[in-house]
Amino acid sequence: MRPIRLFTLCSLMALVAACSSSSPTTIINTPPVSTRFTIQVMYLSTPSAAFQVAMDSAVKRLTAIVTSGPAGYATTMSTADAANYTTLIRKTTANGGCGLGNATLSSGAYPGIVIFAQDTATLGSSLIIAQAGPCLVRNGGLPIVASMRFRTDYLAPLASNNQLVDVMTHEMLHTLGFNSTVFGTRPDSITPLITGAGTNATAFRGANAKIACLTFSPTVTATCSPTIPLENTGGGGTADDHWRESIFKTELMTGTIEAKGVRMPLSAMTLGALADLGYTVTASLAEPFTLPVGSSPLMNLLAGDVPANSGTPIPETIMRAVGVFRPGQQP
Ligand SMILES: [Zn+2]
Repeated sequence: MRPIRLFTLCSLMALVAACSSSSPTTIINTPPVSTRFTIQVMYLSTPSAAFQVAMDSAVKRLTAIVTSGPAGYATTMSTADAANYTTLIRKTTANGGCGLGNATLSSGAYPGIVIFAQDTATLGSSLIIAQAGPCLVRNGGLPIVASMRFRTDYLAPLASNNQLVDVMTHEMLHTLGFNSTVFGTRPDSITPLITGAGTNATAFRGANAKIACLTFSPTVTATCSPTIPLENTGGGGTADDHWRESIFKTELMTGTIEAKGVRMPLSAMTLGALADLGYTVTASLAEPFTLPVGSSPLMNLLAGDVPANSGTPIPETIMRAVGVFRPGQQP
């Protein structure tokens, strides 16, 4: 395993003033712990070049968009914390861990998320091409440690379709908290961001995502208000964890991949959802998105047509956190 990228290392560094023999050494400035959001990828085995390049690209894309977590997000792990939580995440999923057998957490600052990543020949089921999601969350629900596995044999065809970075970004967004479990715990237990989970009416109710959705053209208020429809088909790993395909079709965080050549925008609505989770985001990096004509329930009703749904489902498994990281406490 080797670390590949750490965008911002933060350190507690005291600047010590030069002193004369007549005055004691004086600390003149202690910079705060950096709160700049980071995505640190730790590979569980030597990655293929294609996987590493795609992960790098997704990290660059998302660390440009997400700049910090909410107040109190940045934290540190002591040596004892790192050892204790390493033991937890290495346990098999059957034993309450994340199945990250050879992962090791480092002590030090955690201003973002650590993703243990691997491309692999198989992922349990021959149908699954990706497994991604949180392994440990912070107190408050946002992920601190995550897992991202990907089928090696899918890398080349996705790259040749010019879709690999988009799919990797999609999976990485699940690890950052774009999933129903984190929606259910942020920003607090009283007002979860998801409503109607597991039903046909499953929907996202974050204010920032809704504002963005209402700006889409053609404007169909019923699509975004009072809540934004989440996926209500496809079962576990698809339903509740994505925007609804029948309405948002090409958006990056629906549960399907589009045909070759069809753009999958990372829209202002997904950036809004990240903001609703508590992240500070660079709104100007939202990609232009329009509601596919005929795809909203209202328009379909008026036009008498059926929702367009030509995408191919992404066969993926969403990982769920197994514990909360609390500094100085046993897992
Ligand atoms: Zn997904």
